Amino acid sequence: MSAFPLNDNAGRATLVGAGPGDPELLTLRAVKAIQGADAILYDALIDPAILDYARPGCRRIDVGKRCGRHAMQQSAINALIVKLAGTGKHVVRLKGGDPFVFGRGGEELDTLRAAGVPVEVVPGVTAACAAAASLQIPLTHRETARSLHFVTGHGADGEVPAHDWRALAASGGTIAAYMAGKTVRKVAASLIEAGLPASTPAVAVENASRPQQAAYHATLGTLADVLDAEQPSGPTLIVIGKVVALARIVEESKRLAA
Ligand code: SAH
Repeated sequence: MSAFPLNDNAGRATLVGAGPGDPELLTLRAVKAIQGADAILYDALIDPAILDYARPGCRRIDVGKRCGRHAMQQSAINALIVKLAGTGKHVVRLKGGDPFVFGRGGEELDTLRAAGVPVEVVPGVTAACAAAASLQIPLTHRETARSLHFVTGHGADGEVPAHDWRALAASGGTIAAYMAGKTVRKVAASLIEAGLPASTPAVAVENASRPQQAAYHATLGTLADVLDAEQPSGPTLIVIGKVVALARIVEESKRLAA
């Protein structure tokens, strides 16, 4: 018996990272997968210009969800990919950033493997890399930041997950917090309590790589107040660590003040 019972009719799926928003940050492989798709299931974070690469006959299905507004349950998305692949379609599951960085790509992969659907994965530029590049923050830096930690600020129950805050604080590395817009106060307090100085530079980058990008510079101790005042409404990534002081905008304001 074939390991891929659906392969006879050539149905397959590709989990594609669409990057942080700017279509120029798509990979060539992502563009090729989109061009070859019979159906595309895309998230809320996908720039419509990216869908313009699809063939005219391609089915475009918005399965997008932003915090609190669930357009389609994850289980329904999984079932739909399997169903479409089962009818011989090449299904592209287009996801913001990288499919395997807080993207639930692993769950989709599990379902597709269990259903015997051949699957490929195309990596994408994750939000932390895009935010860092646009502000010119080297996420790692010789001597200053020898490790990089991707953490989520939002557990399955909506609360801040029980990270090992002491280990994070002691690492001296850079912390990139995804989905922490609502929980930033708790995240910052946990890190400070674990020993990370409140003076540690921190920045929140909203809509990284998009025309409406905004950066809110602060310290670990002040970031929650800054975000309370600014109320960013787009996807926001937080970067914490000494390297944040190297950001272009901070350097420029230092020059102006001198
Ligand atoms: N797979 C995605 C992350 C999905 S989780 C990736 O690799 O980037 C969603 C979180 O990602 C958002 O809450 C936000 O913290 C971050 N994010 C995604 N796109 C972003 C963007 N353009 N600007 C800032 N943060 C972004």
